[in-house]
Parts: sequence; C-alpha cells; structure tokens
Amino acid sequence: MDRGAFLEKAREGAELIKMHIELGHTIRIISHRDADGITAGAILARAVAREGGTFQLSIVKQLSEELIQELASEKHRIYVFSDLGSGSISLIEKHLEGATVVVADHHPPEKDEFSTDSHVLVNPVPFGANSVRDLSGSGVAYFVAKEMNERNMDLAYIAIVGAVGDMQEIDGTFHGLNNDILEDGKRLNILEVRKELRLFGRESRPLYQMLAYATNPEIPEVTGDERKAIEWLRARGFDPDMRYWQLREEEKRKLHDALVIHLIKHGAPKEAIDRLIGDVVISPLYPEGDPRHEAREFATLLNATGRLNAGTLGVAICLGDEEAYKRARKMLEDYKREQIEARKFLIQNWGMADEGEHAYVFYAGKNIRDTLVGIAANIAINAGLANPEKPVVVLADSDEDENLVKGSARTTEKALAKGYHLGEALREVAEKLGGEGGGHAIAAGIRFPKGRIDEFIRLFNEALARQVEGKGGED
Ligand code: C5P
Ligand code: C5P
Ligand code: C5P
Ligand code: C5P
Ligand code: ZN
Repeated sequence: MDRGAFLEKAREGAELIKMHIELGHTIRIISHRDADGITAGAILARAVAREGGTFQLSIVKQLSEELIQELASEKHRIYVFSDLGSGSISLIEKHLEGATVVVADHHPPEKDEFSTDSHVLVNPVPFGANSVRDLSGSGVAYFVAKEMNERNMDLAYIAIVGAVGDMQEIDGTFHGLNNDILEDGKRLNILEVRKELRLFGRESRPLYQMLAYATNPEIPEVTGDERKAIEWLRARGFDPDMRYWQLREEEKRKLHDALVIHLIKHGAPKEAIDRLIGDVVISPLYPEGDPRHEAREFATLLNATGRLNAGTLGVAICLGDEEAYKRARKMLEDYKREQIEARKFLIQNWGMADEGEHAYVFYAGKNIRDTLVGIAANIAINAGLANPEKPVVVLADSDEDENLVKGSARTTEKALAKGYHLGEALREVAEKLGGEGGGHAIAAGIRFPKGRIDEFIRLFNEALARQVEGKGGED
C-alpha cells in the first residue's frame, strides 16, 4: 500500500483538528461502540486534551441519517468520526456541509474522497490496505493523533488493543500498518509482542477456563466443557487452576505442543492450528494478572462495556480511570457467560438454519442478544456447524426496535477467494429491504424489518451468486 499518501491524509486531518482547537472550538467526536471504536475515541480524546482543547465524545452503535441530522443540529464547527463514517460519505456531505469533518476509519469507503476541502477522509483502504488486516479504526485514529503530536505515540498500546478487538491478527500475526504501531510501542517500552497461546484469558482466567471457553479456534472435545478441560490439563501434568501468565516459559511451550498435537489428532484445519499460537501483545503499563495487561482481554473488557451501552465507560478505562475499570469487571463476566450461552443455543438449534446455495441464515429471535450475533456467526464457523466456504448470517430481534432484526454476516478467507464481499452484498440487500447494511468483505452487518426475513434469505443468496459470477467473468 501507499503509506506515504495515507500518512499525508492523516496529517491533513490532524491539521484541521489542531486548527479548530486553536480557535477554541469543541471537537465533536463520534465513535463506534466496539473495542476498536472505543479505543479510537479514547485516542482522539486524549490527543485533543493534550493540545489543550475540549472535546465532546459519543459512542454509537451505528451511523444513521437521523443521527447525522441530530449531530448537525448541535451546530459544531468540527466533527471527527472514528471507526465509522466511510459508508456515509454522501450523507455527511448532505447534512454537515457547513462544518469541518474528519473521518478516521478503516471500512471500505463509499467513495475514495470527499468532494470539499473542509471534509477529509483518513482511510487506508483507497491506498491499498486490507480493511480487516492492515489497520483498524483505532490505528487510523493513532496515526492522526501522532501527526497532531509525537507524544501521542504513547497511545500505541491502546491502538493495538483496538486492532485485536477487531481480530486483525486472526491468522496469528499482525500485518501492514499495525506493525508500524507495534514498532512505536516497542521503542517506547509500552508493549511487547510474544509468541503465545492466542486464546482469551491469559491474565484473569484459570487454564481450564481458557481452554473450555476457546472459540477462536475451538479445541475439539474441550471447548464448552469445563470438566473435560480440567481432565485434559491434569492428564498432561498441568494445574488447571493456574493462570497462563504464571507458567514458566518451558511450561508454556509444553502446553503449546500438547495443544497442537491435540488439534492435529482431531483433524482440525491447518488455519485453526496456525492461529492457536501466535502474536500476543502485553503491556508493562499494567500488572500481570490484570485484564488490561494483555490486548485481547483488554479488548474484550471494552467490548463488554460497549455492548451494554456503556461505551464511554470503556473510553474512561482507556484514559486510565481506575474506578471505571472496577465497574466494568463485572460486565466482562456477564458478557463472556452470554457468549457461552449463545454457543450452546447455536449448537442445539443449528438444524433451524436455512442453508441456501451461497449462505446459511440463522434466526435466533430473542435467544441471542443483538450485539452478540457477530460472535455467534463466527462461532457457527469455528464450531464446524457451517461449511467454512459458505458465509453465515445470524439474525436476532433488535434490542431497540420490536419491528427490526439485526444481522451479522461472517466468513473466511477461503470463501472470499470465490469473490464474495459481504459488506457490498448486505448494503445492496438492505436498500431493497428498507434497512441499512454494509461493512468489510469478511465481516458485515445489517438491520431490516422483521417481516422480511424470507425475502432477505433469497436476496442475500442472489447477491452472493452475482458476486461469484462477476468474479468468474473477470478471470
Ligand atoms: O467479532 P467481534 O469483533 O464483534 O468480536 C468481539 C470480541 O469477541 C473479540 O474481542 C473476540 O475476542 C471475542 N470473540 C470471541 N469468540 C469469537 C469471536 C469473537 O471470544 N468466536
Ligand atoms: O466495526 P468493525 O470494523 O470495527 O469490526 C470489524 C468486525 O469484523 C469485528 O466484529 C471483527 O471481529 C470482525 N472480523 C471477523 N473476521 C475477521 C476479521 C474481523 O469476523 N477475519
Ligand atoms: O493523565 P494525563 O495527563 O495523561 O491526561 C491527559 C488528558 O486526558 C488530561 O488533560 C485530561 O483532561 C484528559 N482526560 C479526559 N477525560 C478523562 C480522562 C482524561 O478528558 N476521563
Ligand atoms: O454489526 P457487525 O458487527 O456485524 O458489523 C460487522 C462490520 O460491518 C463492522 O465493521 C461494522 O462497522 C460494519 N457495518 C457497516 N455498516 C452497517 C453495519 C455494519 O459498515 N450498516
Ligand atoms: Zn473497526
């Protein structure tokens, strides 16, 4: 990708923000409600505060036309969107015409640029980056912050927490501009990258829970069963109650070997084995055993706040607020428990899934919370319920509106090779259904009227079929 051109955009965004700080304007920040968006918002907030500016920050579930209109009515001079906005360029141009706008995002954009000089799109995708591997929303915010002031390099760990929350290193290693952030962080001694077990729970979970709750990848015959996890560990000479961080280096290696052998024995796919052991980021800024010490646990803590509508609590945690951290600990427990329940529900009811020619669609009603459908779709793939070459959509009743369903589509690199782009397919289908949809090729979301699920199934399969045909035509 063209790094230089991307960094030039980040500099343009940074200059606009600094100019408005100097003019005494409040910087209006709007960010996305997941770990990536929460860290992005925190990075921008800290950067503004450092320059002596004031900010007003909101963490939102999605950017709709109504929300953009509401923001316009606040009559700010400058709006900064992070981890969202790229799909709403026309709407931003329409409603925020008179204001300065900086969009710091990594979603595939509706178009490559804004048409006015007072609006800047800082997004690595038009410069050749892969939106789900090379940089997250927090990473884009980081580069803007770094252009505002070199001191903001001390936010490198928070930026990587966002990247991990978005699963940018799902294959076991970091890519693209994420590596530049890691280098900054290493130089400042605020983070360290190790080759370790890439499962949730390094700091705060006993080993048996780390294994029993593993969904990404799953551990065959162990995931979902604490008793089996305990037996498995004891049989190999491990104390199931130890934390991973407490193991000596040779014990960690012994555990890695035992797990790899177990996966091979059970015929796990090569991709699952590759990503079981890989890049794990830890930070000496926090003590061992603290969820904030390791990026995946930190990210999951932030996701837990976001999904319970407490995203600004997550921002406060990123800014070092200890009280906020204590309040969020309990949310993390509930959030992980809900994920386990969602997995059980999927496994028991997968027979209800509609398997079309190009996609599975599973409607969970109220049994899975609408903020967990993305995780559920990944679980269906990782648990072997779905053929990994066929995209999965999990739908649930919207928490906010009785008449709507929220859906998340997820798939694998293998499926993408056929020509699928889930974000484009859902955007197209949403337009026909009177909803809103979009996102990345490999992970995307939609909301639409509940009465139209059958139509959705047909339209989504048709849209994917056209993508495969379109690809065939090009070759
Ligand atoms: O997919 P999404 O970013 O919404 O996932 C949010 C969080 O949920 C991630 O931080 C990841 O650690 C966790 N997750 C999980 N099991 C999965 C998928 C995601 O624990 N199968
Ligand atoms: O909102 P946004 O960009 O921030 O989130 C990206 C989503 O894509 C996350 O939910 C993440 O877990 C998901 N993802 C995935 N598989 C990948 C990469 C990302 O499901 N390989
Ligand atoms: O603690 P430190 O000096 O690094 O804080 C940087 C800035 O972040 C402070 O100027 C503070 O105003 C800002 N901040 C904030 N909201 C918080 C925490 C910190 O605006 N919740
Ligand atoms: O909502 P969900 O987690 O399934 O979204 C997956 C990805 O698609 C996220 O990156 C999200 O920001 C994006 N998305 C989007 N436009 C929508 C819905 C989701 O860009 N209307
Ligand atoms: Zn993101």
